[in-house]
Amino acid sequence: MSAGRQGIRAINQDIVQCRACPRLVEWRERVAREKVARFTHEDYWGKPVPGFGDPEARLLIVGLAPAAHGGNRTGRIFTGDRSGDWLFASLHRTGWANQATSVATDDGLRLLGAYVAAIVRCAPPANKPTPAERDNCLPYHLRELEALGRVKAIVALGSYAWDNSLQANAARTVERIVPRPKFGHLAECKLGDRTLIGSFHPSQQNTFTGRLTEAMLDAVFVRARKLAG
Ligand code: SF4
Repeated sequence: MSAGRQGIRAINQDIVQCRACPRLVEWRERVAREKVARFTHEDYWGKPVPGFGDPEARLLIVGLAPAAHGGNRTGRIFTGDRSGDWLFASLHRTGWANQATSVATDDGLRLLGAYVAAIVRCAPPANKPTPAERDNCLPYHLRELEALGRVKAIVALGSYAWDNSLQANAARTVERIVPRPKFGHLAECKLGDRTLIGSFHPSQQNTFTGRLTEAMLDAVFVRARKLAG
């Protein structure tokens, strides 16, 4: 087994057992018990959701946190929710995924040179982790950044992932980039030999309103391909 694969496996084993944030543990487990009407017959995962994809990835995609009835239900990040429908369809169109849909852990989805993770691994109430919860969880992402040694492009989905990718880079390299690079769609920033690319988050808030179109999201992953090879 490669070092990258071993490292990622160890990180993910630690993530799924984590109970460091009492508020998030209570919330993720309550959501899993109470469910919503459309998923009432499903067994929810109800635990932290680890990253997913190719341990030899050249592209890393970072989101905010799992969705309460998406990743917190299925156990795989961006799986079983509308944001994931948009994300994986785009990854498929741009050659980073073997199929366009992501509905369950056994659906056959494989990422091709890409890895998807979140800054916070437990679904937070109102999609808003506290700074303390973010700080508790960030070390998992730092470990991921080390284990995914071949990554050349990092796509931050939304400003929260952008800001915390910069924070993770500062923690990793002990270097702050001044002035702080501003988030925007297709904004770029060099992080050593890696490039951070900003993307509007494929949430319904953005996709329903046309703030983010399929072509705009595809452009992000085409750009990542140019950078990552
Ligand atoms: S958010 Fe992260 S640190 Fe907090 S309980 Fe979940 S996995 Fe652990």
